Formats: sequence, structure tokens, C-alpha cells
Amino acid sequence: MKLARIGSLGFEKPAVILDDGTRIDVSTLIADFTPETIEGGALEKLKSADLSALPRLDAHARLGAVIKRPGKIICIGLNYAAHAAEGGMEVPTEPILFFKASSAITGPNDGIMIPKGSTQTDWEVELAVVIGTTCRHVAEENALDYVLGYCVHNDLSEREWQFLRGGQWVKGKSADTYAPLGPYLATPEEIPDPNNLALWLTVNGEKLQNSSTSDFIFQVQHVIAYLSTFMTLEAGDIISTGTPAGVGAGLKPPRYLKPGDIVELGIEGLGQQRQIVRAYSPS
Ligand code: ZN
Repeated sequence: MKLARIGSLGFEKPAVILDDGTRIDVSTLIADFTPETIEGGALEKLKSADLSALPRLDAHARLGAVIKRPGKIICIGLNYAAHAAEGGMEVPTEPILFFKASSAITGPNDGIMIPKGSTQTDWEVELAVVIGTTCRHVAEENALDYVLGYCVHNDLSEREWQFLRGGQWVKGKSADTYAPLGPYLATPEEIPDPNNLALWLTVNGEKLQNSSTSDFIFQVQHVIAYLSTFMTLEAGDIISTGTPAGVGAGLKPPRYLKPGDIVELGIEGLGQQRQIVRAYSPS
């Protein structure tokens, strides 16, 4: 099943997208896709419902982020060996963790705003995992049982703030519009192996990232189990699993986004995003 949130910003309705692209409005069954409704069994409710009688949503209406305000976004750093190498970093022996502010979340095609004072806004296509059931101390062999679904995430990153401003990477990861999520969330029966998905990203049509999650250093089930030893994973939480090689900071010379650039990215089975980059504005 493909889940989405559709409508103008702040007025999104929960929806199911059928294989032919039809968008079913499920707001009479579920208020929205939030941590609370997910924990409360939203997916089970949808699976047992007759969707055929429900109203359709406009095929051209805006797609919102797939989850409304998750409790946390946890990111994995350097989870592909070639990306670690392009940054001059060692391949980690344990997953590197950092947080990203949930206020950075935006719709998949809403666009990227260069933050105030930024000169090094960079792209990162990533597989994001959304937790479906609150859990802690999960065994690796059961870890995928706690997944609600998967989606595309562009883990936008301000490299100067991330690396040259001291302290933790969260500084460079959390600006407004730095976390486009979508176009939809695919539940696990659509993605039998999250560790074998092609993923790619282009800037102005030039393919700069082109890899597969089969190159993960730490696979999805290991990442979930590992994280759950340090913190409770709650329904709706987002785990972003790291980016492959081909980010702007790794190019020679480095290259960063500027207003007017068009970023497109996608993952096998999870659809595509398209973002136009714009200059900072305070509203
Ligand atoms: Zn990342």
C-alpha cells in the first residue's frame, strides 16, 4: 500500500495511492498520518476498509510530507563506503548517528530554500524508514516487523555549518526545507528487500548520485536494532539510512546548490521528488 498526505500546506488529507495513480481520500477513516494514529493502528484500519466507495483527490494536488511531525528524525552518517571515501573519512565500525530537526520536513516537490547566510547547501538522496510500532531493544531478526514503510528523503546539508562550525552535524542538517519526504510511503509488502534498491539524484539533469542500497555498510535491520539499544523508537519516527557517493562536497571542485537549480531524486519502488532551489526569504 502507498500512503500519502495530499493538499495545501497545513491542510493535507491522508490518502492511499492506488497502482494506477488514483488518490483515495481516507480522511473519514483516519484523521491524518501522525505518530498517534500510526501507533493506534491506522494501517490495519486501512487494510480492512473498503476503499472503493471513498472520494478521490485531485491528481494534481500538492503532495505533503508523508508523516505529520514525527517525534524525531535520526540519520546514519557514512553508511556507504564510497561516500565515506569521497569525504576523506574512515569507514565506520559502528553506525554514526545524528539528529535532524523535524521542523526541516517539507513536501517532496515544495522546493529547497537556501538558508540565510548559507553558501554550501548540498544534496543527499537517502532511503528513509518510518517506524510503525514503538519499540526498544529490538533483535535484528525481528527489526523489520517494526517498520511502517519506506520513502525517499533528500537529506539536505549545509557543509560549512556541518563541518566548520564545531560540535555536532545537526547544525548543518536542520534548516527549513532541508528534509523533503515523499512522494509516498510504501508499506513493507511493496518493498520486500530494502537493502537492494537503486537510488539516484540529478542536478539540472546531470546524474550525480547513482547507487544501490545493496552497498550499505549497515543494513536496515541492523540500523533499527542498533538504534533501539540507545533510545526508544516511536511510531512515526524517521530513520534516514545514509547517502551514497556523489554529493557536491565530494566533487572537485566542490559544487553547491544555487537559486534556480533543479534537484530530482528517486528510489526504486518509492517514486521521485523534484525540487526547485530558491533564495532565502524570511516568511
Ligand atoms: Zn545523510
